[in-house]
This record gives sequence, structure tokens and C-alpha cells, in this order.
Amino acid sequence: MGSIVLFGPPGAGKGTQAANIMRETGLPQVSTGDMLRAAIKAGSSIGLEAKAYMDRGALVPDDVILGLIQGRLLEDDAKNGVMFDGFPRTIPQAEALADLTTITHVLAIEVPDERIVERICGRVSCGACGAVYHDVFNNVPSSGCPCGTFIEKRRADDNESTVQNRLHAYHEQTSPLAAWYQERGVFHAVNGDRDINAVSQDLLGLLN
Ligand code: AMP
Repeated sequence: MGSIVLFGPPGAGKGTQAANIMRETGLPQVSTGDMLRAAIKAGSSIGLEAKAYMDRGALVPDDVILGLIQGRLLEDDAKNGVMFDGFPRTIPQAEALADLTTITHVLAIEVPDERIVERICGRVSCGACGAVYHDVFNNVPSSGCPCGTFIEKRRADDNESTVQNRLHAYHEQTSPLAAWYQERGVFHAVNGDRDINAVSQDLLGLLN
């Protein structure tokens, strides 16, 4: 059994789709963004170092990210593979990852740049359960979040000026990974500019 990579620009819906894939495959989600936000909240030295990069929408240095991943993959629940979300984001990260686990599928969720800003700027999540919603495209149900305690959370970097930098970092540093994984025969892309369920169906179809 190997690991899956969810790939795509910021705001493509990786976190949203991760929940479905996790349910279907049983693989735990490993989101470097979530790990970094947890480190910031905990006030750790990694969090302190990462925050300055994240606040301006730049990538955190590879050695910091790889340190986090190495530790995470040693945990018990990772031994049959994991589902990476937001990692790898550079070629050196992908090269290092190849020595740590076998990647069986890279699932790319494609969304054009002009749709990203509106997607990211209306994003909201539940601080209690982590479910991701959107002010316009995916409202919190009128009956509340299914977890029972909706705590509205918005990310500090989900604003228009930071989004442009995050998109720039994606095109410059991360998108070359598509060809890198294509060469290795594990890359699959779906059109992410559609209804959440349609995207889910395509992604699960690629895994079966
Ligand atoms: P995300 O939650 O995936 O959108 O990540 C939020 C921010 O965390 C990014 O804009 C980066 O600053 C940082 N980050 C997350 N994952 C990585 C990674 N694999 N490599 C470098 N920086 C990362």
C-alpha cells in the first residue's frame, strides 16, 4: 500500500475533497498547512519560523517541511500510507518524499487562476471539526455544522493580497511537479471548477 498526493493550487478544494477520500480509503490526511498552523498556535520554534513565510504567502523552507513530514510518517497510523494535502510543493520535497514512501496516485484538482481569489476570500471552516465551507459556494447548513458545534474560523492568509503571492509561488515552484509526476506515471488530473460531488466522483473513480 502506498500514499496519495492531492495536488493543485491554493483554493482548489484539496481540503474539501480530502475528507471524502479519507472516508473511502481509510488513509489519514497529512496536511503540511494544518501542521504549520498547529505549530504556530502551539508557539513552537517551527511555528515561529514558518509564520513569517505563511503571512506573506511564500513557501516555508524545504528543510522545515521535510522535518515535519519525517516525524509524521513515523507515527503508527502512517504505516500503510497517507494522503498528502498541500505537500510536496517543490521538486526537492518530492525527491525527498520518494525516499520515504511510495506514491501511487497524484490527484490534481485543476481550477483556473481567475476563480481562485473568489474561492479563497469566501472560505470559512469549522474550528471544532475542521469542515470547510464557503460564504457563497458551500454554505454552512442552515441546521448548523454536522459536528454540532460550529465555530467560525477564517485563515489569516485567506485575503486578496496574500492570495496573489500564493498563486505566484504555486506557478513558480509547485506546478513543475505535475510534469515530474507525469514522468513517473502516477499523475491524474480532474476539472475542479465544478460541483463538489462531481469532483469527488472523478477523484474516487481514479482511485478504484
Ligand atoms: P495550505 O494550508 O496548504 O494552503 O498552506 C498554507 C501555507 O503554509 C502556504 O502558503 C505555505 O506558506 C505553507 N506551506 C504549507 N505546506 C507547505 C509545503 N509543502 N511547502 C512549503 N510551504 C508550505
